[in-house]
Amino acid sequence: YSMRYRTGVPLVLRDISAKIPPGSRVGICGRTGSGKSSLFSALFRLVEPASGCIKIDGVDTTSLGLTALRSRIAIIPQDPVMFVGTLRQNLDPFFQYQDEELWDALRLCRMHDVIAQRPDKLEANVSESGHNFSQGERQLICIARALLRKPKILLLDEATASIDMDTDNMVQGMIRQNFTKCTCLTIAHRLNTIADSDLIMVLDDGIISEFDTPANLLKREESAYSEMVAADHS
Ligand code: ATP
Ligand code: MG
Repeated sequence: YSMRYRTGVPLVLRDISAKIPPGSRVGICGRTGSGKSSLFSALFRLVEPASGCIKIDGVDTTSLGLTALRSRIAIIPQDPVMFVGTLRQNLDPFFQYQDEELWDALRLCRMHDVIAQRPDKLEANVSESGHNFSQGERQLICIARALLRKPKILLLDEATASIDMDTDNMVQGMIRQNFTKCTCLTIAHRLNTIADSDLIMVLDDGIISEFDTPANLLKREESAYSEMVAADHS
């Protein structure tokens, strides 16, 4: 699979190939600009392939309608997206769920009490870009939105302007508990977030330089993953 953002500009994913087992948890790392978020754009078909294809359960994603594809994949982006409106609209833009389901999702994300204490509750106003919520709260609300949709594939792009480590660990723990039946791909900026993944994918300048279990990568001291872990602990 190869991808570029516009014709005439260089490829940002270059002839990559990988097979992700169903239900596995894959941690993705690599330096800034290596193509991690671009891989998610590719999966979500925000950008079309320059060559090659991505298959899910054997089906080429370009043969699917965008709605069919995107309704089965949930993405929690680097900058959690909220729009002007009410909290309810942000959680459930197409009014598909019962209040009880919305509250359950908020409860799983530990946002239930914060919202229940507000006089306007689910009708709480969300200002431009959700700035009347903290970064951590926005992330949790985006996770609640993803939970409601019960996706088969979850893409989580960890915030770079990172939320504090406690919130980060809490978010990770919650994802582990609640998205158990999904295939989860997590882009990590903190390596400890993905240390217990089933597989680690290291991207380097648009190619997959390593893709193996964390144990196997750590066995090789010279692997990029080992070096990143060592640098992280020093
Ligand atoms: P970070 O760790 O900083 O989030 P990343 O690994 O997610 O980095 P990408 O955002 O995928 O990196 O960027 C890969 C390359 O694609 C970079 O050269 C970047 O400048 C380019 N790029 C990313 N988004 C776009 C875009 N929307 N249009 C054009 N080029 C882009
Ligand atoms: Mg990124």
